[in-house]
Order: sequence, then structure tokens, then C-alpha cells
Amino acid sequence: AGVLHVVATPIGNLGDLSPRAQAVLREVDAICAEDTRHTRQLLSQFGIATPLLALHEHNEDALAQRLVARLQAGQSLALVSDAGTPLVSDPGYRLVRAAREAGLRVSPVPGPSALVAALSVAGLPSDRFAFEGFLPAKASARRERLAALAGEPRTLIFYESSHRIDDMLADAVAAFGGERRAVLARELTKLFETVLDGTLAQLHARVVADADQRKGEFVVMVEGAGDDGEARLVEGRRVYALLSGHLP
Ligand code: SAM
Repeated sequence: AGVLHVVATPIGNLGDLSPRAQAVLREVDAICAEDTRHTRQLLSQFGIATPLLALHEHNEDALAQRLVARLQAGQSLALVSDAGTPLVSDPGYRLVRAAREAGLRVSPVPGPSALVAALSVAGLPSDRFAFEGFLPAKASARRERLAALAGEPRTLIFYESSHRIDDMLADAVAAFGGERRAVLARELTKLFETVLDGTLAQLHARVVADADQRKGEFVVMVEGAGDDGEARLVEGRRVYALLSGHLP
């Protein structure tokens, strides 16, 4: 049977497509891509002409079975997404699962991911972290999710797009407090790469004041709740319990 290769592609800088990724993408029978036009453009820079198949959230279930049949027939396939590592806030999970359930070999060609790239330059505690991906688009759901994370001691990592970065930081200030340390990684490996650190309130003010700091793609990292936050929370609950006994 053939192998499904899960291949990471650049998050901006073409130089980050590894030699092994290039070789695999050249040699497989077909490449499953999120946006075939986007991937065709990337591959053409490397003189790779492998056939492409569109695999996105809407057709993934149906296509997965057909792709599994091709693998069983001995073909080899690669899975890529538009940028970075497939399955990380990108399609591919259903295909990988279907292939594994069919007993097929699934093999990674590791490489760029905005998540790890951002963490590697943030200077926030990185021994343990919680990747939250994209927050809900709806304000009420987003605030709810952030509120639920306020006591999380691990470094929190979010993906965010340019049109919501302002609102997201405002909501983070409200949920975590303006004094919480955070790092904003923008346009990593690209021309306007910027890594800003400060308190959440400072970062929000910066993004509001400077339209350039709202452009591009973002990874937002927030330091986990420290012992102080934890202690305040416990104290708050204790006082509330005491008071609620005396309230009508
Ligand atoms: N699979 C990708 C990965 O491994 O990083 C992530 C795909 S997700 C649909 C796209 C999001 O990743 C963007 O909205 C942004 O939050 C983040 N991202 C991707 N490229 C980035 C870059 N060069 N700099 C900062 N963030 C980036």
C-alpha cells in the first residue's frame, strides 16, 4: 500500500520548504491541497508539477474514502495546507484518521508552524502551553471562552486574523486583566515580521494606535495565570462564600 505523507509548507518564507518536503512533493502520485491554486503557485517556484486534488472541510469526509482506496491500490499521496503544518487549525484530520483506521502508513514531513515559530521567540514560559487556535468569531462566545481560560496556568496561544485582532485584545484585557504579560507575533518569516511584548493593555493600545500593527497574520500569546492570580481567585471565592451567608 502507499504512504500518506503529511507535509509542512512555509508560513511566509519560501526558503522554509525543506529539501525533504520538496523531494516528497515531487515524488508522490498526487498532492491533496486546501487551495489548489495557492499550492500550484508554491510548487511552480520549485519546478514541481505533481497533480493536485482539492481537499477542504466541505468535501473531506467524502474524499477521504476515495483517497484511502487510492492508497490501498498502492499510490502515494501528500497532504499540505495553504501554510504551515496541516491539521493545525487546518483541514486534514478526517483524512489522517481514515487512513490510520484503514491500517495505512501516515508519515510526517515536519516543518514550519506559526504556533511553534511564535512560541520560540516569545520569551514566555514554554515548558507547558495550551494552544487554543482561533477563538469563536461571535463576541459573546469569544468572551465566554476567554473567561473560562482566565485561571489557566499554562502559556496560552491563539491564532488571530487582522480584522479581529483589535477586538480580541480588548476582550483579553477584560478577561485576564490589563497587567497580564503577552506577546504578539505578526507576519513571521515575512517582510513585516514584528514581535511585540508588553502587558495586554500596552499591546492593545499599540494595535489601536498604529494601523500597521493590525495588518497581516497574528499569533497572540498570553502568560498563564500566576500564583498571584490564583491566590486572588481563591481569596475572592472565600470572601464571596462568607458574604453570601449573610446576604438576604
Ligand atoms: N497550519 C498553520 C500552521 O501550522 O501555522 C496555521 C493555519 S491557520 C488557518 C492560519 C493562522 O495561522 C493565521 O490566521 C495566523 O493566526 C497564523 N499564521 C500563519 N502564518 C503566520 C505568520 N507568518 N505569522 C504569524 N501568524 C501566522
